Amino acid sequence: MAKIKTHYEDCDILVVGGGMAGTGATFEARYWGRDLKIICVEKANIDRSGAVAQGLYAINCYMGMQWNENQPEDHVRYARNDLMGIVREDLGYDMARHVDSTVHMFDEWGLPMIRNKETGRYQREGKWQIMIHGESYKPIVAEAAKKSADKIYNRIMITHLLMDEGKENRVGGAVGFNMRTGDYHVFRAKAVIVAAGGASHIFKPRAVGEGMGRTWYAPWSNGSAYALPIAVGAKMTQMENRIVLTRFKDGYGPVGAYFLHLKTYTQNANGENYEKKWYEQTKELVGEYIDHHPVPTCLRNHAFIEETKAGGGPIYMVTKEAFQDPHLETIGWENFLGMTIGQAVVWASQNIDPKYTNPELTTSEPYVMGSHATCSGAWVSGPEDLSPSEYFWGYNRMTTVSGLFGAGDTVGGSAHKFSSGSFTEGRLAAKAAVKYIQELGDEKIDVKEQQCEEFKKIIFKPLENYTVGRNEITAGTVSPSYILPIQGLQRLQKIMDEYVGGLSTNYVTNENLLKKGLELLDMLQEDLEHVGAEDYHQLMRAWELKHRALTSQCVTEHTLFRKETRWPGYYYRGDHMKLDDENWHCLTISRRDPKTGKFIMEKAPLYHIVDEKKKEAS
Ligand SMILES: Cc1cc2nc3c(=O)[nH]c(=O)nc-3n(C[C@H](O)[C@H](O)[C@H](O)COP(=O)(O)OP(=O)(O)OC[C@H]3O[C@@H](n4cnc5c(N)ncnc54)[C@H](O)[C@@H]3O)c2cc1C
Repeated sequence: MAKIKTHYEDCDILVVGGGMAGTGATFEARYWGRDLKIICVEKANIDRSGAVAQGLYAINCYMGMQWNENQPEDHVRYARNDLMGIVREDLGYDMARHVDSTVHMFDEWGLPMIRNKETGRYQREGKWQIMIHGESYKPIVAEAAKKSADKIYNRIMITHLLMDEGKENRVGGAVGFNMRTGDYHVFRAKAVIVAAGGASHIFKPRAVGEGMGRTWYAPWSNGSAYALPIAVGAKMTQMENRIVLTRFKDGYGPVGAYFLHLKTYTQNANGENYEKKWYEQTKELVGEYIDHHPVPTCLRNHAFIEETKAGGGPIYMVTKEAFQDPHLETIGWENFLGMTIGQAVVWASQNIDPKYTNPELTTSEPYVMGSHATCSGAWVSGPEDLSPSEYFWGYNRMTTVSGLFGAGDTVGGSAHKFSSGSFTEGRLAAKAAVKYIQELGDEKIDVKEQQCEEFKKIIFKPLENYTVGRNEITAGTVSPSYILPIQGLQRLQKIMDEYVGGLSTNYVTNENLLKKGLELLDMLQEDLEHVGAEDYHQLMRAWELKHRALTSQCVTEHTLFRKETRWPGYYYRGDHMKLDDENWHCLTISRRDPKTGKFIMEKAPLYHIVDEKKKEAS
């Protein structure tokens, strides 16, 4: 341990994760906090990190208020409908009213926007999406962050948050290690903004074996956004609300531009519109929600899953008609080239030319995230002017731990933010964090050496586990004393898959399965004390796994708590197959006691602040 070098950095604002929300937070923190010391720490390199690393073809959240295309209220209605009635409308409205200004900055900074030649406006792909040439999206926002921060630390994985020892329940910074040098880094900070992305690979993926690593959400999104706040006792919300995506098979190529811009549609193996077939059955489960327009994403998945179970698969995307138009054909291919090149490669390797062959679709394994068509994440304060008292405790986007803020995938309850909304939420969190620091005045953060030293021992233990345990075996990878990160990951994925509603049970779980799952997750946690890492890269894998495991426990507790099937198509509680508005038209909240590791669950009232002012308590 003595050999490991320690670096200390004291700062005002620490941004954990330099993806979309983290770059937005870093940029805005400088705007409001000219004299503050602002540090951003990123596990990869912010030029190409996070879910937008490879680029995007569309900005999925733009109101177009300047042309009166949409208003924030419209977006709240849209997100509420898509999430089967349950979102934090204060957070959604707040994001929506600011998101256009974010997009206008992207435009100013040189992001190539596609414009409608006739109107001069941004080219719409759908009601909320605008089209971009987005290969350079991430480097452009990274540049804004680099110009704003005092320092960007790349290649440092944050493993734990530090807590202030002078004041109960206040954050004091974070610690982590450099994956290239193996150095230990301590960041003491007055405010921390966690913007560490969502969680893939917690459920067993469809692509295993030689395809391992191929997932829809970024494979490097490992749930730090949730594990960091959960570990220090921050409350979480809607963690049961995982997402399943309908995507092109094997390459996970997105379908949005195909549906919205190319106007392609789906059909079963017999060429039938199968969605209609499942209307009555779905109505039995969810009532009038099936009549909403647009049909909520989960319900469209539901029809897909039911049709496949009934033997109607494969399900195809009908591309042959649209691809006869050379313009649409180009768009169809470019859509992948700017975002998911792998899908084009899969088609090429399987002799699929979508002009002549309709490609297959599939439903993905579940993911956990707070920025997409789902809203798992931290329970945060909303803005002062909009939020009812239960949703407001002083600083916008602050978690229930003082000084600890969240943005993007980290924040729960506010779905459909996507890239632009996540950047915007980073800006909102940073503005509030600056205010928090200003109001702290001269009050100091108290983080003692001993706390930092304790974490140092914990963080590097997997290296020691390996070095010692390795002596007991002469060959192979199976040791009596340690498990490797890959072995632990596969065990985690199997538990989540079989007990918590993954692919192998057609997304179905129930109380008994969930309880068993929790028992197995507890045992896994015990064994993770003995995870072994042979180098710094594997040390990162070990910590990614630990963060995934903690996130998974929280997901499982939430799934057990909500005794209904609110989002058929995302997951099913087989013992409570129907949506139950009478008892469950509410938000779910958990808190894990950092001392005992036990989760306490509660319901929170759901307020509809757009259209209806009335409180709908649970
Ligand atoms: C396949 C796919 C397609 C999408 N398509 C679109 C689209 O067309 N349009 C659109 O607008 N949006 C799209 N999105 C959504 C958009 O990418 C996300 O909403 C957005 O990136 C979320 O921002 P974030 O900052 O929360 O997470 P990210 O942008 O993923 O950033 C998280 C960052 O945290 C870092 N990190 C993680 N853990 C740690 C740690 N422990 N320590 C330090 N750093 C850490 C990561 O390396 C990463 O840089 C898509 C997402 C995916 C995955």
